Amino acid sequence: MIYASDLDMTLIFSRRSMAVPEDTAGISVVETIGGKSASFMSDAEMAALKELSGKLLFVPVTTRTMEQYRRIDVFQRHIVPSYAITSNGGNVLVGGEPDMQWRKMVAERLRGSACSPDEARRLFAPVVSSDWVLDERLCDDLFYVYLMDRDRMPLEAVRERAAELAALGWELSVQGRKVYIVPAAVNKRDAVAYIRHRHPEAELIASGDSLLDRSLLESADYAVAPAHGELYRIYQETGQMGHWTFTERSGLFAGEDIVAFAQSKLDKASMPAGKRKTGTVPG
Ligand SMILES: [Mg+2]
Repeated sequence: MIYASDLDMTLIFSRRSMAVPEDTAGISVVETIGGKSASFMSDAEMAALKELSGKLLFVPVTTRTMEQYRRIDVFQRHIVPSYAITSNGGNVLVGGEPDMQWRKMVAERLRGSACSPDEARRLFAPVVSSDWVLDERLCDDLFYVYLMDRDRMPLEAVRERAAELAALGWELSVQGRKVYIVPAAVNKRDAVAYIRHRHPEAELIASGDSLLDRSLLESADYAVAPAHGELYRIYQETGQMGHWTFTERSGLFAGEDIVAFAQSKLDKASMPAGKRKTGTVPG
């Protein structure tokens, strides 16, 4: 079994997204930036994920750059995955190092399927102003991230740009204080599928909170999303959701529900076929 999961706002949480005070009992720092705590995880979630990752193939799948991923201490020392996907699918790390065959495939996919990052940036530029955009960054030469003041974001104008970008092969996703503009040809689902080719028998469990996770969730046998974030907001506004379930809890402790979901699917799959329907063991 493979368990592929988004990280930020799914398994790890910034101070802003965790929705509990930093000094809440039972939570630990999993990333520091310049000596300051930046991301958190519940201790129970960490223990459950460590146990789970000993029984299946756990693959972190993040839009973070490689450098930002490597900063997450828990996945460098405590739970060390054989594979990880960074850059929204642009890089597959095997034993911590980028797989060059995948890189080549990504470059080929981009040729012909999407306009260049420069052109995408130009298309988005008319709505960008210092009134709401605080910082802009090209990540791994692949996609853009805009740090913003969300309350000031011109929602309608951004939506219009999203439609125009989509016509040129680019997707727009709003997550917390960030707007991502990414080429649709590079995505989490396809990077996970690349790893899955090496384990063709394995079923896939997936979790994630944002539009950039949707295709991954849709490609999985079992999927779960937290009761917060972009997918949950879309569900609340429109009633639309895929075949994934939402967690009971929101905020940092949704991470525990998510790992428990993955564990329950593994338990079910490990059960002898005749006993799966009821989920009970006869006495
Ligand atoms: Mg996320």
